[in-house]
Amino acid sequence: MVRFTDLHRIYVQVLLSRRFISEDVAIVLYKRAVAAMKTVKGDNFEAPYSAGRKGLQSFVDEIGEGLAELGMQVVVTRDESKEGKYWICLSYTAFTAQVNSDNVEDQNDVTKLASDLSSLEISYFRRIISEVIEQSYPANSVSSVQALNIAGDLEPTPIPKSQAQEILAALVSRGWLLKSARSRYTLGTRSLVELAPWLKSTFGDPEEGGEEDGFLKECVQCNKLLIQGLKCPGRDCPVHVHLFCYDRLISANRHQCKNCKISWRTSEPTPVGEDAIPRREDDYATSRRSKKRRTGGGTATGDADEGEDELEDEDEEAESRANGTQNQSQTVDLESEEEEDERPAQRVRRH
Ligand SMILES: [Zn+2]
Ligand SMILES: [Zn+2]
Repeated sequence: MVRFTDLHRIYVQVLLSRRFISEDVAIVLYKRAVAAMKTVKGDNFEAPYSAGRKGLQSFVDEIGEGLAELGMQVVVTRDESKEGKYWICLSYTAFTAQVNSDNVEDQNDVTKLASDLSSLEISYFRRIISEVIEQSYPANSVSSVQALNIAGDLEPTPIPKSQAQEILAALVSRGWLLKSARSRYTLGTRSLVELAPWLKSTFGDPEEGGEEDGFLKECVQCNKLLIQGLKCPGRDCPVHVHLFCYDRLISANRHQCKNCKISWRTSEPTPVGEDAIPRREDDYATSRRSKKRRTGGGTATGDADEGEDELEDEDEEAESRANGTQNQSQTVDLESEEEEDERPAQRVRRH
């Protein structure tokens, strides 16, 4: 058991209040915590670790060890950008352990802990996740027009556009969703950490051999879930790889696909994520019909014949207004508001 010093305690407060911070911010906050200690204890206070990546990692590892008894963990992870920026996420291990439990009480309990979202936000968020994962491959993202249409189609209670924009902004600011410069939404790094077990149980675990027809993809290099990155161009090859993992492989001269043996030097991998589709598709609305369609390839946004772009025009100006934060505190579990028949990928759970 780690003995927490005052420095640890200060830092735990920081993590509890933010839950999800970039490495840069985490280092600044570590320096501030050390400075605060010097004010109290005098200049001879020695910081236990250096204020760099390594030092911070050791420090948050200690904190994670200390918090383990409370069912919490500190995860250091990388986002899916080309740089693979580091993030620190304070999450609940109970969530990871029990999300697959068949006991509904367990699920309710842990999801309440793990979630800072209201019931309305959760049902909307779930629909966006399912659209991103089940309908939009290889774009693995939805345009803001689509995101607003999803809100309008929510049953039993559609969410009005202005409220949907506030919810989207809140989900982005908390790290659950990412919004790109093209105004497309995809799963945020925090979702990939905190919701990984739930994502796998809902959409099929890529590790369990279902990768070819499964919706979720996993990186061949780091074995983490992959929403944005590259796909091997080999025929029917299911291999996907993050951009930063790909760079690492190439710089180590490992340019042959582990699975189909094709050389990525002569056949370049193709993008997965918004780069997989042209910009003009950002304006297409999704249709109610497209929800029922679940193709493994192709884009869900590509149907120019769908006449449901009523939200298209107002989108831009309203988008810029959206800056709200949600203070609703009611929380519910991710499972409870399910329209089961809408989930084709509801497949075998682990255990
Ligand atoms: Zn990777
Ligand atoms: Zn391959």
